[in-house]
Amino acid sequence: MNGIRPNILAMAGYTPGEQLNDPEIIKLNTNENPYPPSPKVFEAIQGSLTSNTLRKYPQPLGDTFRATAGKVLGVSPDSILIGNGSDDLLTILTRAFVPEGGLIVSPTPSYILYRSLAEIQGARFLTVPFTQDWNLPPEWPQQASLTFLPNPNSPSGTVVPLEDILRLANAVAPHPLILDEAYADFAERSGIELLPHAPNLIITRTFSKAYSLAGMRIGYAIARPEIIRELVKVKDSYNCDVLSLVAATAAIEDIGYFESIRKKILATRQRMVVELRKMGFAVTPSQANFLWCRNERPVKPIYEELKARKILVRYMNYPGGPIGSPEGHYDGLRISVGTDGEIDRLLSELRLIL
Ligand SMILES: *Cc1c(COP(=O)(O)O)cnc(C)c1O
Repeated sequence: MNGIRPNILAMAGYTPGEQLNDPEIIKLNTNENPYPPSPKVFEAIQGSLTSNTLRKYPQPLGDTFRATAGKVLGVSPDSILIGNGSDDLLTILTRAFVPEGGLIVSPTPSYILYRSLAEIQGARFLTVPFTQDWNLPPEWPQQASLTFLPNPNSPSGTVVPLEDILRLANAVAPHPLILDEAYADFAERSGIELLPHAPNLIITRTFSKAYSLAGMRIGYAIARPEIIRELVKVKDSYNCDVLSLVAATAAIEDIGYFESIRKKILATRQRMVVELRKMGFAVTPSQANFLWCRNERPVKPIYEELKARKILVRYMNYPGGPIGSPEGHYDGLRISVGTDGEIDRLLSELRLIL
């Protein structure tokens, strides 16, 4: 095709987890929440649907959402930027900070979207292997236009201690460190408390995982207001639709519901760890809503057997693993925490397969 930029022609494109249309499938492959959103979300959407709601443009900056989220998170509303899912925010950040030919750095094994963002931007992409215990290595490139660090990390579910994140933010300054907190709602701590100490720290979050709103496409970034002001110039004027803003506002306000769902998921996660280990899986301790499971025997056939039995997990295969892993190939199964019923099915099918 004539005229397509060479970097686009050269790239493979990001492949999202399978979204099969079969309603019988137990879906444990893209870390969606197995529970419904808060009832307050449905009430708020229904209540918002007047004849004017859809006719008019939404608030460009989502001011109502920002005011509510600011209160809940304990940050100033003008330090919040709304996004059409947090992937939209990662795109905005890449466009704002990375020149063509610039460098993006992220750890590996990790979220594979970052590479696609670099390729679209025409930037170079460099991965730095995690240590064996999924911490940051002592040496980290400092000249990157942008550094992405998911915390908790995917696929491992592990967290880097906040002290180390602060050290990394200082090391890459004045360039930004993007702390991708898609799963922080399931973790013990968040990097929000670091914001006063690291002017170049930018945190991204999503309603897709802990708030059961993956279908709504909404997330937000938190950073110093002077950074947010610049990012506003890069985003689409109306990047979040009116219903997603209403839904996210109701969801973040309903702290009681959020806590009850979170508790259920953490309890199921713990039960999964115990049972999967009994079956011989090496399960990495997780602070997210999924588990990274490896095995002495090849795991790809296990993924395929599960799929044939209508259970979808994510098979992931990286060119290399954490420092010290054998070169060339590192794979495993990333299994989302489902309802207790779904996990009972998973465990009983696995017992038959193994
Ligand atoms: C799911 C996920 C996101 C993106 O979530 P959105 O649905 O776009 O809000 C971002 N980062 C990581 C690491 C994720 O797993």
